[in-house]
Amino acid sequence: MNKVELAIVGGGPAGLSAALMASKLGIKSVLVDENRRLGGQLVKQTHKFFGSYEHMAGVRGIAIGRQLSEKVMADPNITVMLSTTAVGYYEDGTLALYQREPEEKLIDIKPQTVIFATGARENMLAFPGNDLPGVYGAGAVQTLMNVYGVLPGEKVLMIGSGNIGLIVTYQLLQAGSKVEAIVEILPKIGGYIVHASKVRRYGVPILTRHTIIEAVGDDRVEGAVIAQVDEKFKPIPGTEREVDVDVICLAVGLAPIVNLVWQAGVEIAYIPELGGHIPWHDEEMRTNVPHIFVAGDLAGIEEATTAMIEGELAALSAAEFLGRGDRAEIESIREDAHRRLEELRLTVFSEKVKAGIKKLQNWKELLKQRAGNLRG
Ligand SMILES: Cc1cc2nc3c(=O)[nH]c(=O)nc-3n(C[C@H](O)[C@H](O)[C@H](O)COP(=O)(O)OP(=O)(O)OC[C@H]3O[C@@H](n4cnc5c(N)ncnc54)[C@H](O)[C@@H]3O)c2cc1C
Repeated sequence: MNKVELAIVGGGPAGLSAALMASKLGIKSVLVDENRRLGGQLVKQTHKFFGSYEHMAGVRGIAIGRQLSEKVMADPNITVMLSTTAVGYYEDGTLALYQREPEEKLIDIKPQTVIFATGARENMLAFPGNDLPGVYGAGAVQTLMNVYGVLPGEKVLMIGSGNIGLIVTYQLLQAGSKVEAIVEILPKIGGYIVHASKVRRYGVPILTRHTIIEAVGDDRVEGAVIAQVDEKFKPIPGTEREVDVDVICLAVGLAPIVNLVWQAGVEIAYIPELGGHIPWHDEEMRTNVPHIFVAGDLAGIEEATTAMIEGELAALSAAEFLGRGDRAEIESIREDAHRRLEELRLTVFSEKVKAGIKKLQNWKELLKQRAGNLRG
């Protein structure tokens, strides 16, 4: 374990692709994931992916996850550690792992390089009653339904009309729940119109310029108060109304899980367009710590398709650091990966991500300017 060339933390699309690319270049890696099976978010994505066929459009996320996981499990260069959480990364380069199964133990490894691909967590919203049973994140609802076969409730209020809110609404309807409404604080729907049209056909109203005021109930959610908002997103008095629901589902964005990279000394940038606090990295997924690389939602909230390519790029950079692989081969794979990333980022939904990436590239300059302004 102390001779590990590469450790990969996180077995979602980014981590899996990183491990496969590293193996292709002859690097042995240890892939760690806290869950009992590989796939990250993909294990619950029963819907078909969008975009072009080159990027797996039309294939269900769950199938993509299965394909990648099978390849990884069969690869002799990759040691998979499931039910294992990376709990710390220390100055001397020790990555501390807590394994729950098959037996509980702590394992320290000292990898020469690390790719962090820890993904993201769901954002919460502040409103009275948000701690009542029956208030869920959309990802949690998806896990309950699509992984464990459990319906979270009968009548749902969805908060947020981005793709996640729309897709999970559709899946709730398919599973037999009634979705009373989707509430969106912005003046327009955030996700793809095709998803919005689908849920509207089922009779679900999408209330733009609306927000949740409070959850109603003593021991569990028994309703929710919603209201219209003005231009400054302030609730308009007199527009409040109660909806009869037993589930409030929050689809209000994701935030990268940065605690480990932060501990590892990676500089953290604040880029709202990419999900808030993210590890500073260049376009080859290198951080300011030379042997640490990042990929996927951790590096900025985007898509599984882009996460996979970023995983490959991170593995190429790790190979370069380790002095492994053929230089010309690395350059040619890299070029192709950047072409695919650019293609994926051609949609209007990528405008925000591209603005975020630009800010990240100029981050150090921005910091200097801000310091100057503060001094001024
Ligand atoms: C409802 C929904 C629908 C989506 N639909 C699409 C779609 O149609 N198309 C698309 O391209 N994308 C879609 N996405 C986005 C996509 O799922 C994510 O962008 C993608 O999964 C990110 O991959 P990742 O590998 O970075 O992170 P994840 O998939 O989140 O994987 C990270 C993994 O790391 C593990 N982990 C975290 N910390 C540790 C630790 N300390 N130790 C060990 N393990 C750890 C996590 O448990 C997880 O298994 C959707 C997302 C959601 C929520």
